[in-house]
Amino acid sequence: LDYDAGLGWHDARIVPYQPITLDPAAKVFHYGQTIFEGLKAYRTEEGKIVLFRPDMNMKRLNRSNDRLSIPAVDEALGLEALRQLVQVDQDWIPDAPETSLYVRPFVISTEAALGVSPSLQYKFIIIMSPVGSYYSEGIKPVSIYVESDYVRAVAGGVGHVKTAGNYAAGLKAQEGATAQGCAQVLWLDGVHRKYVEEVGSMNVFFRLGDKIVTPALTGSLLPGITRDSVIHLLRHWGLEVEERLVTIDELVEAQKDGSLKEIFGTGTAAVISPVGSLYWKGEKLTIGNGSTGEVSARVYETMTGIQTGRLEDPFGWRVSVE
Ligand code: PMP
Repeated sequence: LDYDAGLGWHDARIVPYQPITLDPAAKVFHYGQTIFEGLKAYRTEEGKIVLFRPDMNMKRLNRSNDRLSIPAVDEALGLEALRQLVQVDQDWIPDAPETSLYVRPFVISTEAALGVSPSLQYKFIIIMSPVGSYYSEGIKPVSIYVESDYVRAVAGGVGHVKTAGNYAAGLKAQEGATAQGCAQVLWLDGVHRKYVEEVGSMNVFFRLGDKIVTPALTGSLLPGITRDSVIHLLRHWGLEVEERLVTIDELVEAQKDGSLKEIFGTGTAAVISPVGSLYWKGEKLTIGNGSTGEVSARVYETMTGIQTGRLEDPFGWRVSVE
């Protein structure tokens, strides 16, 4: 799909995967005016191809577009494009359980001009790739590195949308996390450097005493679609979920007095990622007994069951592409 000022979005088409040609002065290279989404298509046991809450991805895509001064894409057209493309490529969805087709919609600004102003031309592209099960050897806890020097986002910035610069700015911190044997960074807020926000590509949940707590959407973290779904699911089970500010000090104290029972991340890629330990100021703090917690395991089983068609979908989240 192309956009030209005056014409609007036009020329929707499906073409074979191929390199694209861009002018070296295309604005995306210089000013990072680009956004993306990520979702998965699954093949159910009955052979149906389903997407998980794709309407949420289209809505978030347009919130990202708006923040980056990119013209909105018609959501119905975007959903239709997703359906058609996934159908064309459905043979790529492996039959093995919990494997999927990862779908990556994105927008880039293509106008060749060096002035800092919104581009007058864009491309909206959707690419796809088959992905294996995230946990080929079963769900496994990871270590998370609490970042205290670098900052990912501040309120008023772009942390609440999916734009490339957020991820570029996180790479340096990720190197530090990897060097300490950690899978991902846990970001603190950019102003006080004490409120926990999110993990590199996941939102985060804490089982604190008899409640489940997740950082409130303050404007500097991404409103994850898995996060929203997990909150619904936990409340549906009758568990108390609090969306509020959480400080790293509260977590460290709760780890020491034993009331921090579980931590897990939520995101499209892993669905649920249990956290076995937190690396904070040179110390590795074990969460619970370091293995996958009972709520994490139950949420993982249920979410993947709903997504892949193994379980009933009481919330109407699965969307068939046929
Ligand atoms: N936070 C960030 C920074 C992410 O990149 C992602 C992955 N999209 C998430 C959270 C989780 O969002 P979702 O559940 O929609 O995949």
